[in-house]
Amino acid sequence: MKDVPVAHSNAFAGANGDGFQAARAVGAAVDEKHTNPAFYFPSSLHEDTVYPHILLDRAKPGLIAVNKDGRRFVNESDSYHDFVEGMLRANAATPSVPAWLICDRSFIRDYGLGLLHPGAGAREIERYIADGYLHRADTLAALAQHIDVDGANLEATVAQHNRYAATGIDEAFGKGGTEYNQFNGDPANTPNPCLRPIVAPPFFAVAVYPSTMGTCVGLSTDGDARVLDGNGAAIEGLYACGNDMASLFRGVYVGPGITLGPALVFAYRAVMHLGSNAAVDAGDARKRISA
Ligand SMILES: Cc1cc2nc3c(=O)[nH]c(=O)nc-3n(C[C@H](O)[C@H](O)[C@H](O)COP(=O)(O)OP(=O)(O)OC[C@H]3O[C@@H](n4cnc5c(N)ncnc54)[C@H](O)[C@@H]3O)c2cc1C
Repeated sequence: MKDVPVAHSNAFAGANGDGFQAARAVGAAVDEKHTNPAFYFPSSLHEDTVYPHILLDRAKPGLIAVNKDGRRFVNESDSYHDFVEGMLRANAATPSVPAWLICDRSFIRDYGLGLLHPGAGAREIERYIADGYLHRADTLAALAQHIDVDGANLEATVAQHNRYAATGIDEAFGKGGTEYNQFNGDPANTPNPCLRPIVAPPFFAVAVYPSTMGTCVGLSTDGDARVLDGNGAAIEGLYACGNDMASLFRGVYVGPGITLGPALVFAYRAVMHLGSNAAVDAGDARKRISA
């Protein structure tokens, strides 16, 4: 796996991989065969907050994401992980970290933007502009200049996006083209729940960066969540689930619950296995006592 420019995390700060290291110290193998080492969120940064743009704004109609060239690079309504994969792919050719979420005033009124709540009033907006989280300008060219993005391209990108909004078909990235996209869009918006023209100034921008939701790379385990050593043999009495266990999905986002689902299943499997071993142990003990 190549190094990726991911410097932020949304995971609990106290989770530093202690369990993982303890397992490695007794010979546990690490499964690194993953498309991505982690699952990602696009996050905006404000003071100590790493705010994940999970589904409240990106998928809604009237927002696009652009890179330093002022061009879109991904379907903004796709999953947070796929969005960041698109960002990292684009970044290999054009600076795309940070990427910029662009919208107009009506978008913030209807859906909010990152830390700004839907219906955010002047006070909330001015506060976030004052501390540099939110950027605003009366024209797209001025906004582009302010955030150091190519202005002519941004104007062309927004004009193209607005044409797609009118037809309901995003010919570039297919925003709103799947049930997943539409579910996270606005059902009242037609013809496409994820596309609406960006037209009414002032225009706004917020920077988003890749951040980790949790790890995909993890300890090798078998179907009973037993941790395996480098030879593929189970380490007696050692189990792993949750983020310590290598993800079943190997760095690919297949849908909501990709982490908590397997965590529950393999916690159950581990306890059932432990329980059956305990029953065997108890049976052996009874046999030894009666002999
Ligand atoms: C914002 C956000 C939203 C998410 N949404 C979803 C979702 O919708 N669906 C989904 O499936 N997943 C979601 N996830 C991912 C999911 O929350 C994690 O995958 C899951 O919590 C991992 O569980 P875990 O028990 O492995 O680790 P954790 O929840 O990190 O728990 C590890 C625990 O170990 C403790 N610990 C660490 N070191 C030590 C030590 N040395 N001694 C004692 N205790 C220690 C920590 O304090 C912590 O309590 C989300 C994650 C984030 C950040």
